[in-house]
Amino acid sequence: MADQISMRQWMATLKEMGRLKTVNRPVELVFELAAVGKKADGQFAVKFNNVTGFSMPVVTNLAGDRELFATALNSTTEEMVQKFGKAVENPVACTIVPKEQAPVKETVILEDIDLQKFLPAPVHHKRDGGPYITAAILLAKHPDTGVRNVSIHRLQVLGPDKLGVLILPRHLWQFFYLAEKQNKPLEVAMAIGLHPLILLVSQATTGPGLDELEIASALLGEPLKLVRCETVDLEVPAGAEILLEGHLVPGVREVEGPFGEYPKYYGPASPKPVIKVTAVCHRREPIYHTIIPASREHLLLGAIPREAVLMQLVKHAVPSAVGVHLTPAGGCRYHAVVAIDKKHEGEAKNAIFAALASSSEVKHVVVVDKDINIFDPEEVEWAIATRCQAGRDVFIVTRALGNKLDPSSNDGISDKMGIDATIPLNAPPEQYEKITIPDLENINFNDYVDD
Ligand code: MN
Repeated sequence: MADQISMRQWMATLKEMGRLKTVNRPVELVFELAAVGKKADGQFAVKFNNVTGFSMPVVTNLAGDRELFATALNSTTEEMVQKFGKAVENPVACTIVPKEQAPVKETVILEDIDLQKFLPAPVHHKRDGGPYITAAILLAKHPDTGVRNVSIHRLQVLGPDKLGVLILPRHLWQFFYLAEKQNKPLEVAMAIGLHPLILLVSQATTGPGLDELEIASALLGEPLKLVRCETVDLEVPAGAEILLEGHLVPGVREVEGPFGEYPKYYGPASPKPVIKVTAVCHRREPIYHTIIPASREHLLLGAIPREAVLMQLVKHAVPSAVGVHLTPAGGCRYHAVVAIDKKHEGEAKNAIFAALASSSEVKHVVVVDKDINIFDPEEVEWAIATRCQAGRDVFIVTRALGNKLDPSSNDGISDKMGIDATIPLNAPPEQYEKITIPDLENINFNDYVDD
């Protein structure tokens, strides 16, 4: 069965690039796997062939830097955010293939489902409430319109066929809210073991009504192949390693958490919605993918699609915007750096408005001139240090909607801050003339030293 796009293909690419390491010695799923994976964070994908108690191998760190994500998108680091943004604006319908052409349907299990025996889901962090599925895209349809939504959620394995799920107030939250109001289950499908391109599209912070998988078709240049589920009215990527089908149970909450999250703090334990699993499908000899929370893989998966949408919105408000970056230290969510080629005084503040309005997650925005490398934290800090006067250039909005996983927020109610670190247009040029050493770039240090 030829794959259109799959995690296996991607792992083969990583192997060729020398970016995939294999671990054959026995590794425990509780902490040890996450610890070993974390040591390779940003450098190597790691495939664990011998996980204690399971025959299924586990892979992590599928893409740990911006270059690898660019490769996954068949693009460059400079172009990928723009390419992704274009795909968001020009979605292409997916296609449905028969079950016989879908690798994920090689094995179908409808009875005696036991996720605790089947899935090698690790316990990643010290205080985690148990094993978690972290790399599943969750698909659901709007109960009224039928439009598909794709998102990633932390899923705690609570029983043989039971998962606890955190649903933040976005599209899936709305679907479940509507279904639950009518006391109806909301059908869901969860696909694990995917090419990074599909994981990326699931993170697009688009308006409601856009099927994220259609972004994948646009990026691929051909309709993404989906296959129908067995027990629910949903379709999933045909090349996935593993598929879990089920439904969110109306009116039921069970304790989920704590869970070590991307801001590098624990999300607390509290009653959360529950998924009952009704079918499991998988490829022959499936490979399980886990995303270690707060790893580069986790953070960058969030950053690149968000940057694409952020860039579009900022550019709409301020046409002179030239670049955006959601920084790793801000969890690739909370801190946005925007570069503008300022033409009118005040544009920096408008760029801040647009960035803050782009997503409830954006908390602090720094706007810099286009000579600042927005990917270099030292340059950004230098701009704040030397081009910003707090009384004039900083503003704060209190009690807006933020992110519940930010421990300093009041259950998601959060202050927002904008910092204009651009040079005033009317400043005399010599006031901000950067120091330079003539010919510096042509000097080769090794031509001068003797030992
Ligand atoms: Mn959505």
